[in-house]
Amino acid sequence: MIVTLSQGAEVSAVRRELTRLGLWVASVETTQVGDVHVVIGPASTRVDLALVRSVAGVASVSEPTPQHPRVDAQGAAVQIGDLTIAPHSPVVIAGPCCVESEAQIMRIAESLSASGVKLLRGGAFKPRTSPYSFQGHGREALLWLRRAADATKMSVVTEVLSEHDVGAVSEHAEMLQVGSRNMHNYALLKAVGKAQKPVLLKRSMAATVEEWLLAAEYLLNAGAATVIFCERGIRTFDDSTRNLLDLGAVALLSHVHKLPVIVDPSHATGRRDLIVPLAYAALAAGAAGVMIEVHDDPGNAVSDGAQALAPSQVAAIQASLRGALS
Ligand code: PEP
Ligand code: MN
Repeated sequence: MIVTLSQGAEVSAVRRELTRLGLWVASVETTQVGDVHVVIGPASTRVDLALVRSVAGVASVSEPTPQHPRVDAQGAAVQIGDLTIAPHSPVVIAGPCCVESEAQIMRIAESLSASGVKLLRGGAFKPRTSPYSFQGHGREALLWLRRAADATKMSVVTEVLSEHDVGAVSEHAEMLQVGSRNMHNYALLKAVGKAQKPVLLKRSMAATVEEWLLAAEYLLNAGAATVIFCERGIRTFDDSTRNLLDLGAVALLSHVHKLPVIVDPSHATGRRDLIVPLAYAALAAGAAGVMIEVHDDPGNAVSDGAQALAPSQVAAIQASLRGALS
């Protein structure tokens, strides 16, 4: 809130009165044209604006309209079935880039579940850069994912690429993923929100944090149960890693906005040898978990084999991430 004083008003008297009302004065600034602005800090008590306007020496009061009120009100903890996602109880989401066959997803799910992983990922609809690359097994793969998750008591997280598939994906998944390429697809965000499920919203490779928050507002405004933010790296001039993992944004969302953030070191770096160090860094920055691509034959993976860990490596990560916070 910004309180503008009338010409000649005594700053200390107004300040005293505002403090008496429960407002915390963060700063007093004089503009180039001589107006005095009293900036009220965010930790202040909520006070009726009419009461503030009635204080002697106050000319006007303005309160910026919040841009993403539903996101601001959401909170940091998210419930997926009986699993809580929040900082200090980090989760691991793991699975292949692409669901390649029923046998493949079943094998990987069994191994991950034995390691304590509760959230199974895998692409049924794949957003490939080239139209000639494999596009995923689609609805059939949703069934395979569901069967693998049911057999291993896991929950499914999978990407929905098109408005037409929101119904089918929500039928088979506990959490809907909006991919990086679709963060700006507002028609899709509205359709996904209407499914009233938790959504994993990946940051577009060229989105500001504010655009990311506003995309989440679209989802919540349309009815999404909750939004979990997934930082997966942004584009920069440097191509020594696939993308640049923006840990500053992770800390900002977690510590300042108090929102749940998952970090995806696989897509952020494109290399399996950087997954473990960046998983630790993610948790140190305030992430509520990591999403890791896993493949049991990465050399022959249909997509993203170079950034996939073996299923057997996930148990150690799961245990050490828990240990890192205790
Ligand atoms: C994915 O997680 O399967 C994926 C395609 O990632 P992104 O949208 O971040 O590129
Ligand atoms: Mn991938």
